[in-house]
Amino acid sequence: MVGRHSTNARGYWFVDRANGVVPSAVHVGATPVGRGPLWCAAGPCALESFDDAVATGLAVRQQGAHALRIGIFKPRTSPYNFQGKQGPGVKLLPELKAVVGLPVVTEVLDPRDVGLVAEAADCLQVGTRNMTNQALLKELGGAGRPVLLKRGYRTPVEEWLRAAEFVVAHGNPAVILCARGISSFDSSLRFMPDLGAVLAARERTDLPVVFDPSHSAGRVDAVARVALAAAAFGVDGLLVEAHVAPERMYQPGDGRQAYDPAKISGLMAACTEVRDVAAGL
Ligand code: PEP
Ligand code: MN
Repeated sequence: MVGRHSTNARGYWFVDRANGVVPSAVHVGATPVGRGPLWCAAGPCALESFDDAVATGLAVRQQGAHALRIGIFKPRTSPYNFQGKQGPGVKLLPELKAVVGLPVVTEVLDPRDVGLVAEAADCLQVGTRNMTNQALLKELGGAGRPVLLKRGYRTPVEEWLRAAEFVVAHGNPAVILCARGISSFDSSLRFMPDLGAVLAARERTDLPVVFDPSHSAGRVDAVARVALAAAAFGVDGLLVEAHVAPERMYQPGDGRQAYDPAKISGLMAACTEVRDVAAGL
């Protein structure tokens, strides 16, 4: 597919909604994401204790989440922080999936790990720090798994769409766009919720658009509020960090933003309602 449309001025063709090529719903496991019921992937920032991952996974499943999110390769801002369980962690995924009974969304950092992670996970996440890693994006074109592509926290929407184009042009149309907040001069929240980007992406492409309120909020008491705001902007789903016992999470980590799994069902119901109300106003 590569090269056919290389002269396009925007830098993307396949993902352009005008061309009607990409799907408006992408399946993660058996569940379609896009233009339907609000999808929710929830779970721990990182796989740390296997027992806590199981307990959190079972709790979010019981609450109606459709997928378990969990980090195994962690893109930390310091080399001295826990980098995830990495290869040995990937080997734990089949058992985790079998016990929890949900499809798994997990990040892949290195193009060399795409095959390994694709064998064990149902959806491959590209983190905000890797959105412009073209070697990774190209490799994901052949992964045979849907890709959840986070927006770079300093990148314009058009570049995000070009990143999606890399995956699609290399053979994989199953891309879910995930907004997760952007850098700003103001640090009241960890990252400024990029709500306008949801509308902009919607206008330009049919690909599903979801939102990660956890990394945007950066604090647990703002997660639901950011999720509701994203719902008002019509997102197809949410990616929520949740943990049964945030106090047990390694520090420094994302313990401050870990949502109570027992509240996921209420959050999904409220977001669905807000999304419907906003669509009618
Ligand atoms: C994550 O989902 O745990 C993560 C690291 O997200 P981001 O790439 O958006 O910071
Ligand atoms: Mn995290």
